[in-house]
Amino acid sequence: MWMKAIVITSGILISEAIWQMYNAYKRSRRKAVSDGKARHKRKIFEVMFFSKESARCRPHIDLNAPCGRKDCAVEHLRKLVQYLDSATETLDVCMYFFTCPLLATAIVRAHKRGVLVRMVVDESMARNGDSQATKRFYHNGIKPKMKQLDTLMHHKFAIIDKALLITGSVNWTMSAFFGNFESLFVTNEQAAVMPFVNEFERIWTMLDSINAEQSNAVTNTNINSNSNTGKDTLT
Ligand SMILES: [Zn+2]
Repeated sequence: MWMKAIVITSGILISEAIWQMYNAYKRSRRKAVSDGKARHKRKIFEVMFFSKESARCRPHIDLNAPCGRKDCAVEHLRKLVQYLDSATETLDVCMYFFTCPLLATAIVRAHKRGVLVRMVVDESMARNGDSQATKRFYHNGIKPKMKQLDTLMHHKFAIIDKALLITGSVNWTMSAFFGNFESLFVTNEQAAVMPFVNEFERIWTMLDSINAEQSNAVTNTNINSNSNTGKDTLT
């Protein structure tokens, strides 16, 4: 009898614990969404510069703290991570070259919390020996789209929740952040964001149709080759 009571009590306690955990999760999601909405309400126009001087910031990246220098590259990177961490629904990234582990981690983090992540990169990035970031994306279930095209996929932009745009000259690589003269512009001004949203969709659809054409071509080649084989056998 007492055994039955223990089982029932344990069951009730476990159910209660699961229910409390579920409520805590729902509350944190609601807060994230409301924080995201609040962020999108205030106007954001932020300009960041990187320069040869940024190389001096690289030693303090592990401290994850700014050094007080004007245009501290670590501070800029921290802001980028914060923006990526603020994504609640979608994250679209179109980047010629992407190897920065800090930003790759933030993108994987977004994917893991349920954000729809879509990435387009230039195919040369995947062929690069230093494409640890690409491998990391694949290992975590993110499949960047890439295709050998006649021209370079030279864009460098990201769109968060279709409401915040990050764009500029800089590829998301450590060498670009810590040693090049580069710029970044962040804004939630819809007049600037929407053309990039449309451009991303256009590129995404274009890569889909190229892939479909190529797989059709492969199928047709196989069919022709099979039918030719049949014909040869008949004659
Ligand atoms: Zn610094």
